[in-house]
Amino acid sequence: MTLVIAMDGPSGSGKSSVSKGVARALGLRYLDTGAMYRAMTWWMLHEGVPVDDPAAIAARAGEPDLNSGTDPAAPTITVDGVDVSGPIRGQEVTGAVSAVAAVPAVRERLVALQREIIGAGGIVVEGRDIGTVVAPAAQVKIYLTASAEARAQRRSAELSGASITATQADLARRDRLDSTRKVDPLAQAADAIELDTTSLGLDEVIEEVLRIARK
Ligand code: C5P
Repeated sequence: MTLVIAMDGPSGSGKSSVSKGVARALGLRYLDTGAMYRAMTWWMLHEGVPVDDPAAIAARAGEPDLNSGTDPAAPTITVDGVDVSGPIRGQEVTGAVSAVAAVPAVRERLVALQREIIGAGGIVVEGRDIGTVVAPAAQVKIYLTASAEARAQRRSAELSGASITATQADLARRDRLDSTRKVDPLAQAADAIELDTTSLGLDEVIEEVLRIARK
């Protein structure tokens, strides 16, 4: 059976860096499902679809051609052939992604795409609902957490110095939106191993995940 590692947790918990590091160490592919929700959101904004209108979003969710590269050393994401790796990290997309990701038609389409990619071989998959919905049979399920302050500090460093207070407020807003859906994608799988990364360095977290995966 091919190895699937589900890496769930909220923004700023360290998922991306840890997932890429673990994938490289084990020679596995890597998939960032958050980037797929962001790419779908970028396309909706680009097309002028009102992102506060779930019916309008649902009606067009099947249209964009999304492609995720799975090399952990150089992850890529394209929409209709356009590389959107940069724009999907911008404020406009970040502000709208929770609303787009809450639309069931969007989730159905992206979960189906994610399962197709996962089915092609060993992989580390990062997201919110990987261990619960996308790949409940994953052999290794990790749920990363970190204090609100640590998450905001990491995110604002990634955003090259955005204010920590503003970043913390935005993360809290997204957590709230992400966890008030019928099926809470922030819910932790019952069989996931929780790892609090607040006071751990990146290498220490990667080591710990590798230790769990080797068991
Ligand atoms: O991980 P990242 O912060 O890039 O994810 C962006 C957004 O995509 C999240 O705030 C959440 O709304 C959505 N998402 C999701 N399910 C996933 C991954 C991300 O709903 N598996």
